[in-house]
Amino acid sequence: MNKTILVTGGAGYIGSHTVVELIQADYKVVVVDNLYNSSIGAIQAISGIVGQKVIFYEADCADKKILHKIMTKHSPDAVIHFAGYKAVAESVVKPLLYYRNNLDSTISLLEVMREHNCTQLVFSSSATVYLDAKEVKYNEATTKTNRPFSPYGTTKLVQEYILEDTVHGEQFDNLSGLQVVSLRYFNPIGAHSSGDLGEDPNGIPNNLAPYITQVAVGRLEQLQIFGDNYNTPDGTCLRDYIHVVDLAKGHLSGLEYLFKQSGKFFDAINLGTGKPASVFDVLHSFVKAVGRKIPYKVVSRRDGDLPEFYADPSKAEAVLSFVTKLDLDKMTADSWNWQSKHPNGFN
Ligand code: NAD
Ligand code: UDP
Repeated sequence: MNKTILVTGGAGYIGSHTVVELIQADYKVVVVDNLYNSSIGAIQAISGIVGQKVIFYEADCADKKILHKIMTKHSPDAVIHFAGYKAVAESVVKPLLYYRNNLDSTISLLEVMREHNCTQLVFSSSATVYLDAKEVKYNEATTKTNRPFSPYGTTKLVQEYILEDTVHGEQFDNLSGLQVVSLRYFNPIGAHSSGDLGEDPNGIPNNLAPYITQVAVGRLEQLQIFGDNYNTPDGTCLRDYIHVVDLAKGHLSGLEYLFKQSGKFFDAINLGTGKPASVFDVLHSFVKAVGRKIPYKVVSRRDGDLPEFYADPSKAEAVLSFVTKLDLDKMTADSWNWQSKHPNGFN
């Protein structure tokens, strides 16, 4: 029988792309999202792409009563937990909001999973757990996680600690034990190749790719490049951009890996390409995709930006047999296809 996967935050950017891949791989999917940072349009878009209705609950996953009802009805075999707030700058201003939502949702989810004998979880973590690492090529075993520079980042690291401690504790012992795979994402960009599903941030985007596409589509005036005087080949920061569809597929590999485990199990795995690209690389790739110049100006550095970091992706290849397939030009072409087809996102 097909396995049932509960996807929290499945209306969001990465979650919605993962739901498409899951359904297309014949998993039964149940989505829970409170639509804090997403819209019902994403659920409708998924349905359009996969050609079937998506089982969706508009609910907060810190609400144990509702989670309990959903789990009773659907008996999921595993959970992929995307739900959380993710805006770094907002988390600096509203740390309690971030600690409350991100930690509460994970703790509540674990408690309800335990009640329902559901013991397998894939968690959305982030490369931000490595900050301030001293190396630039982040490896799961040798790069130390350190206090991240934002409350958002701290919530990700603390959620990893909560998960790992719960794996090693005794509260799942009368079941088969808890198994968790924590996926540490680098910089997801791109969109579904249909052009009907993509990133639709609330308000003015903080991230590079949606900012550029909104300039290209005329919603914003010009891109501001935060510093071109770093000690990097073209002076702008280097990041590891990963196509959101590759990233989504990484979750299916993560699930398969999880299904092979039993007993107490925790593992953290990077999902990135291992290939750094600069802000100018991304911009030039978008210019090719859009077919015209994209206005920009160089401004001063953004607080907290590191000159460069990227994944050591070798563990994902070794344990998940996961390698990324889509390059930067495909990422920007797909982002632009989505934005140009839907200038105002899902609205
Ligand atoms: P997103 O904001 O698009 O998706 C998150 C979804 O979770 C949203 O639809 C939101 O409405 C929902 N949500 C938030 N709190 C909830 C709650 N308490 N109950 C139910 N739903 C809730 O973000 P995304 O980019 O798709 O990120 C998904 C996950 O991946 C997040 O946990 C994020 O921290 C993590 N992550 C994202 C990135 C990135 O650059 N996008 C990088 C690393 C890690
Ligand atoms: N960036 C930029 N202008 C923007 C947004 C981002 O120059 O409007 C740069 C930013 O300084 C960083 C890179 O683009 O070097 C990626 O930034 P993003 O916020 O997307 O990801 P993160 O910094 O979280 O890795």
